[in-house]
Amino acid sequence: IKSIGVLTSGGDAPGMNAAIRSVTRAAIFNNMRVFGIYRGYKGLISNEIEEFKTNSVSNIIQQGGTILKTARSAEFMDPEGRKVAFENMQKHGIDALVVIGGDGSLTGASIFGNEYDIPIVGLPGTIDNDLNGTDVTIGYDTALNTIMQSVDKIRDTATSHERLFFIEVMGRNCGFLALNSAIAAGAEAAIIPEISLKKDQLGELIEQGFRKSKNSSIILVTEGEITGGALQLAERVKQEYPQYDVRVSILGHLQRGGSPSAQDRILASRMGIAAIQALLENQRNVMIGIRENEIDYVPFKRAIKKEREISEELREVLLISSI
Ligand code: ATP
Repeated sequence: IKSIGVLTSGGDAPGMNAAIRSVTRAAIFNNMRVFGIYRGYKGLISNEIEEFKTNSVSNIIQQGGTILKTARSAEFMDPEGRKVAFENMQKHGIDALVVIGGDGSLTGASIFGNEYDIPIVGLPGTIDNDLNGTDVTIGYDTALNTIMQSVDKIRDTATSHERLFFIEVMGRNCGFLALNSAIAAGAEAAIIPEISLKKDQLGELIEQGFRKSKNSSIILVTEGEITGGALQLAERVKQEYPQYDVRVSILGHLQRGGSPSAQDRILASRMGIAAIQALLENQRNVMIGIRENEIDYVPFKRAIKKEREISEELREVLLISSI
């Protein structure tokens, strides 16, 4: 491999820049040329490609977002679009790709890599932590800290007014952000999709009596249809229990922003170097994962399978620590 392309795709996550930096520098260290591809697969199709040198990635490790920009591309879902993408790679002499993104981006990478016999290595870049085969994804720790700090602030007002707060966080179909930020911020409960599929969590909370001995309550809720989202849950409580002073806060996009945490910067730096190492070892169609602090190569198929389970132990920690 003489020349690689790097892109970020799907939702942005803090730490993507640290990953771009380390991929670029590891490739140059190993005498490869590096091309930055702007706007994910969209830019691969519209040929927004620029050669990167070591200083192209200077002073970005501390920046949130992604200097390569990110986008969603419907054209890439289509074989015609992918053909144009491949032709653009050929024009620049790019032999291999490093794709930084979530499950959708890695699904696209898997299809593209097989279709054109291109070595592609993925990095898990998503705040949702919803990929298999890695303990954590790039951006997750920063988002968790952002949510925790926001909940701390909401708690001040919740306590003063003796209110019941539903705080909605991101995560798509995955409850890691809600559950772990609930533990970190000392919230009373987390309503997460994995459990909503099995039982009525709000119903149980109502039965127990929300506030127990407390004068305010904070409940973290994962966004989306499976849980119903914070607004819908709050509405249900308001109707059934008008005595409660219920409020909703949807944290929204602030969860994606901000300077990456030390953990995310280190994770992204390690994974970026590992991606180039994997390509040198002739690996392809794998995502770089981290398990028990060791780098691992996870086949795309396994990485994107929707089977990641939430830990019972974590649920218990929240349950016991919030009595
Ligand atoms: P996040 O989880 O943070 O939202 P993501 O990578 O899952 O990130 P998606 O919007 O699902 O984000 O996917 C990003 C892009 O990957 C899509 O816009 C599309 O270009 C490509 N992609 C997703 N699924 C496929 C597929 N089945 N075939 C080809 N390309 C795909």
